[in-house]
Amino acid sequence: MPGPVLEAGTDPVLSFEGVEVTYPARLGVGPFTAARDISFEVRPGEVLGLVGESGSGKTTLGRVAAGLIPVAQGRVVLSGTDLAEASRSRVRELRRDLAFVHQDPAASLDPRFTVADSIREPLDVHGVGDRRARNARVRELLEAVRLTPDLAERLPHQLSGGQRQRVALARALALAPKLLIADEPTSALDVSVQAEVLDLFERLQEELGFASIFISHDLAVVHRIAQRVVVLRAGEIVETGPVERVFADPRADYTRDLVAAVPEPKPAARPRRKRLVS
Ligand code: ADP
Ligand code: MG
Repeated sequence: MPGPVLEAGTDPVLSFEGVEVTYPARLGVGPFTAARDISFEVRPGEVLGLVGESGSGKTTLGRVAAGLIPVAQGRVVLSGTDLAEASRSRVRELRRDLAFVHQDPAASLDPRFTVADSIREPLDVHGVGDRRARNARVRELLEAVRLTPDLAERLPHQLSGGQRQRVALARALALAPKLLIADEPTSALDVSVQAEVLDLFERLQEELGFASIFISHDLAVVHRIAQRVVVLRAGEIVETGPVERVFADPRADYTRDLVAAVPEPKPAARPRRKRLVS
């Protein structure tokens, strides 16, 4: 008897298998293991929330997922390829499918580049289309992140924090990544602007269908944005599951404390969107 038929294209976009990350010793400080035995996967079109207190290892895992820091143990598999075993050219190819949005939009934007230049740069680097096609794509991306065309020639310092983060998002989406790693993308913004940028993220994710690792110290934000959540503490996973379940019925004491600390009113249970994955 043949086994159950696996639908094509349901392989994870990314998986971590028993990942450990150790930062090398620095002057006067020994090596530090910032993540231990981390296993999870991100499926196509899924938003996975990575939540935990400051110092729990969220950024470390985001950087590992982006192939920016090596693992001491375990495997990181991107679109079926183990990053540690892939050739340089294959890694370069895989990187194209990945994008990263930082907490601080200033860190993703060159202060000397206009908005249009920043958004166009990944297209230039990868030689996508001719100049006309790239400029058309820039206009399309500006519109996608709801920025008016007149902002195209501005420099980052002439923009508000929220506008800068929209530009960073447009730049991240330029090459239509399969996976967007967003590291606390709204934490540095004013509360009212945070909500706008979260709305935008949610709409874009629905429209474009990219998978995402959405990192936040704020459980309420993750509840809203993600379908599944990984709860981290001191470099280890304490709990993982569908976000509704983890919120309604946390299994680990630590998660229970985090949920209890979410200010009232607790985020209302939203009707979940229909998804390819559950
Ligand atoms: P989070 O994003 O959850 O705040 P990080 O991943 O930034 O956590 O950091 C996790 C731990 O690793 C922290 O204790 C931090 O001090 C340590 N750490 C981060 N970067 C380095 C580094 N380059 N060298 C040594 N330790 C680091
Ligand atoms: Mg961080």
